[in-house]
Amino acid sequence: MSSIAENIFRVGQQIAEAARACGRAPETVTLLAVSKTQSAAIVREAWQAGQRHFGENYVQEALEKVAALPMPGLVWHFIGPLQSNKTRDIAAHFDWVHSVDRLKIATRLNEQRPAGMAPLNVCIQVNISKEDSKSGVALAEVAALCEAVQALPRLRLRGLMAIPAPCADPVQQRAVYAPLAALLRQLQTRFPDIDTLSTGMSGDFAAAIAEGSTLVRVGTAIFGARH
Ligand SMILES: *Cc1c(COP(=O)(O)O)cnc(C)c1O
Repeated sequence: MSSIAENIFRVGQQIAEAARACGRAPETVTLLAVSKTQSAAIVREAWQAGQRHFGENYVQEALEKVAALPMPGLVWHFIGPLQSNKTRDIAAHFDWVHSVDRLKIATRLNEQRPAGMAPLNVCIQVNISKEDSKSGVALAEVAALCEAVQALPRLRLRGLMAIPAPCADPVQQRAVYAPLAALLRQLQTRFPDIDTLSTGMSGDFAAAIAEGSTLVRVGTAIFGARH
């Protein structure tokens, strides 16, 4: 087994363990392999190991991989900061966008999603660390943006995403995620398609799963340190 296959297997087991520890079925958590800065050959290796969901941050780099990897079943997620001049490429080549944080961007993605493709799955990025450097919408403004995105026919509102400030303490990690899980439950009563909480990275996915994550975005623990 390659080391990437081993890492995917190990992370999968850790996800399952974290899910069971809080009474959840392991299959309620999807592993998104964050392949930014990794080559197409490395992504192919992960695909051969059964990995299907991949996350990318940089549009140009991602487009090269998408073109180089036409294998069936691959699902591409855009998780990086969104710029207006990149939305057309994202709308045409990705299945998901996790980082929608303003209506202007959502409107462009909606207009630019090609007619022959299924609606683009989107998550609203929420700022939960109360740190000005992180992008994302304030908790209090999420519902209004959901309302606006819900009205765009070429987008499918799937849920919320967050990137908290790094923190090594599992108790603190959970405390930061808890308000987001509560907000998601609240939104689900109004927006029936919402089923996704995109939280958790290599250093905190167990805590994120304990606080309702349905999709963990893991890079380093699968591919090693980025260069
Ligand atoms: C890079 C990145 C990740 C993966 O982080 P690791 O700590 O390497 O697991 C997850 N989410 C986003 C938005 C990222 O940019």
